[in-house]
Amino acid sequence: MKYAEVAVNSPLTQPRTFSYAIPPNISLGEGHAVWVPFGPRLIQGIVLTLSDYPSVEDTKEIAQAIGSEPILSQHQVELCRWIAERYLSSYFEAAALMLPPGFERRVITFIQPIPNPSDVTLSSLTGRQREILYLLQQKGKVKLKELKQLGGRDRIEDVLEQLVRKGLAVKTQELERAKVRPRLVTYLNLAVPTKHARRAIASLERKRATQQVKLLQFLIQEPHPISLPETRERLGVTSEAVKTLHRKGLISLEEVRVQRDPLAHRTFAPTPPHTLTTDQEEAWSRISAEMARLARGEPPLDNAPSVFLIHGVTGSGKTEIYMRAAAQAISLGKRVIVLVPEIALTPQTISRFAARFPNRVALLHSKLSLGEQFDIWQRIRDGDFDVVIGSRGALFAPQPDLGLIVMDEEHEWTYKQHEQPPRYHARDVAIKLAGLTNAVLILGSATPDVTSYYQAQRGRFKLLKLPQRISSGEVSTMPQVEVVDLRRELSEGNRSIFSRSLARAIAESLAAREQVILFLNRRGTATFVQCRDCGLVLRCPRCEVSLTYHAAVEDLVCHYCNYRTKVPHICPNCLSKRIKFLGIGTQKVEEEVAKAFPEAQLLRWDRDVTKGKHSHEQIMARFLAHEADILIGTQMIAKGLDMPLVTLVGVINADIGLYLPDFRSSERTFQILAQVAGRAGRGKSGGKVIVQSYTPEHYAIVAASNHDYPAFYKQEISFRRQQGDPPFSKLARLIYTHTNAGRCQKEAERVYNLLEQNSNYQELSDTSLLGPTPSFTQRVRGRFRWQIIIRSPDPLPLLSQLSLPHGWSVDIDPVSLV
Ligand code: ADP
Ligand code: ZN
Ligand code: ZN
Repeated sequence: MKYAEVAVNSPLTQPRTFSYAIPPNISLGEGHAVWVPFGPRLIQGIVLTLSDYPSVEDTKEIAQAIGSEPILSQHQVELCRWIAERYLSSYFEAAALMLPPGFERRVITFIQPIPNPSDVTLSSLTGRQREILYLLQQKGKVKLKELKQLGGRDRIEDVLEQLVRKGLAVKTQELERAKVRPRLVTYLNLAVPTKHARRAIASLERKRATQQVKLLQFLIQEPHPISLPETRERLGVTSEAVKTLHRKGLISLEEVRVQRDPLAHRTFAPTPPHTLTTDQEEAWSRISAEMARLARGEPPLDNAPSVFLIHGVTGSGKTEIYMRAAAQAISLGKRVIVLVPEIALTPQTISRFAARFPNRVALLHSKLSLGEQFDIWQRIRDGDFDVVIGSRGALFAPQPDLGLIVMDEEHEWTYKQHEQPPRYHARDVAIKLAGLTNAVLILGSATPDVTSYYQAQRGRFKLLKLPQRISSGEVSTMPQVEVVDLRRELSEGNRSIFSRSLARAIAESLAAREQVILFLNRRGTATFVQCRDCGLVLRCPRCEVSLTYHAAVEDLVCHYCNYRTKVPHICPNCLSKRIKFLGIGTQKVEEEVAKAFPEAQLLRWDRDVTKGKHSHEQIMARFLAHEADILIGTQMIAKGLDMPLVTLVGVINADIGLYLPDFRSSERTFQILAQVAGRAGRGKSGGKVIVQSYTPEHYAIVAASNHDYPAFYKQEISFRRQQGDPPFSKLARLIYTHTNAGRCQKEAERVYNLLEQNSNYQELSDTSLLGPTPSFTQRVRGRFRWQIIIRSPDPLPLLSQLSLPHGWSVDIDPVSLV
């Protein structure tokens, strides 16, 4: 093979490679990292394919191979290709997901004067050349970029070139310093026999070198080398004393590489597996049979990737099944990746894995320091861990011999990367990865994503059900849910944020020394207009989506078609004047609770109070230790936590979130309510949930309060079918941002027209374009945002025709339209 197709580390909005010739002295494989010339610079690239022919006539040569072995495995190269093509990113962006932390580096150009220039050459210089040479001689070796800034007047580059040509200066290129290195710790040891050391002590004592004496005495007693930080801490000696003794040859210093392991400061008591319940047994036998099949080298059942969807209510024993599957994978000589929505919110899942597989679990996530990530990445690649747990990025851990992928809470939005390309969804990537590696994929959720459930209904995923909750080893019932109609409270004169029923229940729980959770959905607060007497929510007459209130213009806006209208003073349905904005934050709820229940200890848990690295754990630990009676929080408290003392969960306003201009708003609300309801009564004492709403008849609220996923699914999937929304179509969301509002709108309109033309031209009759409209979040960091939604069986053909200028971003399969 003489040529390589290389994915280069340069901003590109399309997946494309560049052809390079391979010089005879370099040997390369697919997946190899390389340095390649690109324009005037050297940049990093990854070899995607080797071939005998270049794809263009003129090729440059690969400058250097990085490492002697390919950095990506064969299946990773395939995965990288698939991600870039499916989510429209550059190949390198896709590959970067799999590269070691801190791998990406640049080349820096230095310039330096030669030491002894000849007088003849010097005398031939112009004034400006002398000036620059003088500057250079003062500086010595310096970064070209830095010199350019120092040079003041322009054209300094030309002058430098002239100096280089005259042989007065040389340019060199060097790699930027590696961002992470193995962490080294210095260890001290005695370098001489004890007898010798004692003699030294005697003479040092005479000189009153107390520090050195202390250190030597200490080392005489220590049988093993001891680390410098520990020595310092225990003796309080200065590094001066250490250096002096080292110089005298009395002690030796050795640099030892240490691992940075984030689980190292915690210990977990090993726990044996439970005996499975009948439901668990049934689910488990199917998974285990499939794993055994794959291990024998037989193709997966139905010849599709082996994907299981476990639909099991909270506390039904899903995690127990995941751990069984992990144990089986390990006994088959395979390794495991476990994905959780967010590390900080799932400490219980992590500690359970850590306890079941002591010292075999690695934790990988983005909040680790780069050094920690690097160390763990290396060890994973060396096969040091049976199980890798992490948030979505852990899917790309270099786990050798992958046999099982688990995705807990598969419906969670954090599995989609949307901030930066590649805007991938970890579920779809996991399906692809499982197919490429012949691994089994287990998805689990109490409230599966409607799309996933649809795949299960169609037989693409294998559906497993755990309908019963387990509590203390016995099957227990789901908490009872009461829905309170806030319209009635109001008409009967109760204007407080607590219905009479909720207020009474809180008082009872407090009296019984039990704990209460009050939940407030934060997404969509104060964005829609609802009549407090009849519950009516204003909708777009054209699109049926709820209208969004924009404070700046005091308008109601449709985010699908840009329809606008004024906020009415009276309700168009019941003529009530109580048509107003719902908007209340956790802080306000906290104030109200404090007023109503002054004797209760309160704890608030939302993004505002959990900025630090450990504060999630701290808040959770404090509440679990019963340091507070009432926990007030947002989405975060809905996660999978075991809180046995909680017997009451109150949902302050279930309607919030239901009316976001997004086809997923009902699904989101259902999921959140179902999860919150699952928090109550996980202990022996049972529990109660009270949901307050102005529209208690809404199917998402009704289904959630009955713990009835199938009822919700049935209603929701038929709406989706009617509207042609996913899973009956695919969406692409195009967002344009600009600092100027007018320019932003103009560009969005231009691209919309272009898309419309292309769509007509390609005769894509089943493709619809929504927009252009200002985004729901209209301004982010001073930039205006407009969006266009493409809804189509496959938006890619339309998009691949399009070359979008800087400022646009494309999100395929967006999880949110707001
Ligand atoms: P999920 O992951 O579905 O929320 P878990 O696996 O956390 O459910 O199980 C809920 C609780 O029941 C946990 O405390 C777990 O230890 C316990 N449990 C799970 N399976 C069994 C079993 N077969 N026998 C006894 N207890 C079990
Ligand atoms: Zn009304
Ligand atoms: Zn509309």
